[in-house]
Amino acid sequence: MRYDTLNTRTAVVTGAASGIGEATARRLAADGARVALLARRADRLAALAAELGPNALPVAADVTDQDSVDAARERVAAAFGPVDLVVNAAGVMLPNPVDDGRIDEWTRMLDTNVTGVLRVIRAFGPDLVAAAAAGATADLVTVSSIGAHVVFPGYAVYGATKAALTQLAAGLRTEYGPRGVRVTNIEPGLTDTELGSHIDNPALGPDGQLGAMFDAIGPLAPADVADLVGYAASRPRHVNLRHLVVLPTRQA
Ligand code: NDP
Repeated sequence: MRYDTLNTRTAVVTGAASGIGEATARRLAADGARVALLARRADRLAALAAELGPNALPVAADVTDQDSVDAARERVAAAFGPVDLVVNAAGVMLPNPVDDGRIDEWTRMLDTNVTGVLRVIRAFGPDLVAAAAAGATADLVTVSSIGAHVVFPGYAVYGATKAALTQLAAGLRTEYGPRGVRVTNIEPGLTDTELGSHIDNPALGPDGQLGAMFDAIGPLAPADVADLVGYAASRPRHVNLRHLVVLPTRQA
């Protein structure tokens, strides 16, 4: 399925170095959009951009650093002009028992998954408002998680960041919606990406609890989630698919 109406759009996708962000960049580029690829690993972004062609722009950026995000916005503006579709897929998931007191992980998750999204909105939100004011379709997409609602031992802080993101999207709608900017919050379930590779607790990681979930459930592919981004962004501009939950069929 192609979403041909996206061929007039200019997108920025965070987390484009892997997983859902990369798949979303591929999806939007295949639909003809211009796509700025943001993440920290410049080599990954360059390889993806080379594959996608001149409609893709690799921009190394760290969403935990406002200067870095602002510099990315300048690069995107210089190359593509203002954007009208912003997809926030950058995120980290670092589960551990709360008793471990991992302030390093808590801080990193909050700074990436919540404040990181806010930094991106701070930089690119005015583009969305201006696009909508000029009569164009404008979308802000947040990639939250079913973990915003479903709780697991070890995932209290990750879940809290995702609950915050879901709530943030709801609040933003009250400010952006009346000005014609759609806010779409997507909550995926288990998806086959690099997300679990940063877990440093063997009991919880890919060789432990997370791996067992993959075996029992069978994950979504990142392209399954990316397809929803393309679908939501390609609806007529008065239609806002505001909250999408997508799980593997076997995930309870
Ligand atoms: P990946 O680890 O494959 O992708 C995460 C992306 O975020 C990478 O491209 C990474 O690139 C980027 N990133 C991480 N930190 C930063 C940073 N500080 N600045 C800029 N980019 C950053 O995992 P997913 O694709 O699964 O994750 C995407 C989103 O989906 C996350 O928000 C995650 O919480 C959410 N999600 C994932 C689910 C799953 O089961 N996989 C389920 C539900 C939600 P780099 O390291 O190069 O910066």
